[in-house]
Amino acid sequence: MPVGTQGTVKGLTGRDLVEDLRVRILLANTYHLFLRPGHDLVRQMGGLHGFMNWPNAILTDSGGYQVFSLSGLRKITDEGVVFQSHLDGDRHTFTPESTIDVQLALGSDILMVLDECPEYPVSHEVARESMERTVRWARQAFEHYRRRIAESPTRHALFPIVQGSMFPDLRRRCAESLLELNAEGYAIGGLSVGEPRPLSLEMVEASEDILPRDRPRYAMGVGMPAELPEYVARGVDMMDCVLPTRNARNGCLFTSSGRIIIKHARYRDDSRPLDQYCQCYTCGKYSRAYLRHLFLSGEILYAMLATRHNIQRYLDIMREIRQAILSDSYPEYLKTVRSASADAG
Ligand SMILES: [Zn+2]
Repeated sequence: MPVGTQGTVKGLTGRDLVEDLRVRILLANTYHLFLRPGHDLVRQMGGLHGFMNWPNAILTDSGGYQVFSLSGLRKITDEGVVFQSHLDGDRHTFTPESTIDVQLALGSDILMVLDECPEYPVSHEVARESMERTVRWARQAFEHYRRRIAESPTRHALFPIVQGSMFPDLRRRCAESLLELNAEGYAIGGLSVGEPRPLSLEMVEASEDILPRDRPRYAMGVGMPAELPEYVARGVDMMDCVLPTRNARNGCLFTSSGRIIIKHARYRDDSRPLDQYCQCYTCGKYSRAYLRHLFLSGEILYAMLATRHNIQRYLDIMREIRQAILSDSYPEYLKTVRSASADAG
């Protein structure tokens, strides 16, 4: 899922996303949209689908992660989290119930429960208390959500989130406790918080045999291109990450033969496309030399072209993965991508 933090994937139009890149679902951030322009305004304007004229699915996070990573003063209690807006310093409260209401107002298709995402590293005790709070909040969120849906039946899904920091025993206990919610899908959170990458994969493995096999699993906030097949190998179906879009803008482009740092002098007179195997508009029309020039000149067009390409690359990887699964050749596929990424360093 590409990330559309403010109800837009930076640098791309809906036409780019839907018609060219065939994006079927994107992620929007509840925290940002709650603060600006506000969920009530978004609801008035037809929900996010109407407001941003987006015909496909939208997943929203609960806002919890941004509260923990972006906002100023914040205080976690058993009721929820009080925080200060990073925009104007105003105080707000998110509770398990209120974040459901905000996400329903946004008209999200897949909602997330409010969870607590502990920083890394924390002690086992702190991680356990935090995980237990996350489970309690998930129960409250589901109760509230089911009441709201019974009042006005609309079609959504709500995912609880497995937490537990970097402790496999806590992750397993968390996943086991969340099973009682009988959710339509399960998210795995608390990854990419600064831990070494092998540890992220180990944490996904911890709950692998507990989460129901017939429901989607969503690893939140991962990962690098070479990691996507690794997560899938551990049962993950959905992922979101700012990397393809943010890195594109910062000059880091992902190709089928590794990374390109476009500012490097070696691309100054390189007339080849970024990736000769890529079908995207950027690779069809422009050279590395031109993209490098646009990047160094700070041109808006650079961000647009680079973002297009990186999203195409990520979606191509996911298409390759689906193809390998469908043709029953996933182990061979995994072996190939592992040796390719080892070669690329
Ligand atoms: Zn391309």
